[in-house]
Amino acid sequence: MTDEHLQAWVEKISLDSFGMPFRHRATFNRRLKATGGRYFMKSHNIEISPHQLENYGTEETEKIIKHELCHYHLHLLGRGYRHRDSDFKLLLAKVGGSRFCKSLPERLQRKPAPYKYMLKCTSCGMEYMRRRRMNPSKYRCGKCAGKLILKGLDSKNET
Ligand SMILES: [Zn+2]
Ligand SMILES: [Zn+2]
Repeated sequence: MTDEHLQAWVEKISLDSFGMPFRHRATFNRRLKATGGRYFMKSHNIEISPHQLENYGTEETEKIIKHELCHYHLHLLGRGYRHRDSDFKLLLAKVGGSRFCKSLPERLQRKPAPYKYMLKCTSCGMEYMRRRRMNPSKYRCGKCAGKLILKGLDSKNET
């Protein structure tokens, strides 16, 4: 499939599923491997990975195009176009787009740090996971207001 075919395909999906025209450029990018596609906020263009098409076929690729078009149309309409926005989630579900896309900054954020400590209630046994060390005497159990102890998850020692 050529870029011209892709362009025509994206324009058709845009009209059929969104009822709005796609007025920018859609091209293949062979260097896109970890992600199926991406949307560029500055140029409003869309790039699609040809590997996706080769490996998963037109049906999956169409879902990725729909995902990118959700970013595209919502962004141009001044609506919530990011993955976490309800506008985006609603539109994506409506048109049946793929949930996956690693193109936008929020997906590039590092994974949260692992839990290193646990607060344990001495009366009811409730456990609260924590990433940082903290003073258990300053807090109470959220369930029964009992006293808490802090445990390090790496070592078994109470700290
Ligand atoms: Zn996305
Ligand atoms: Zn408790």
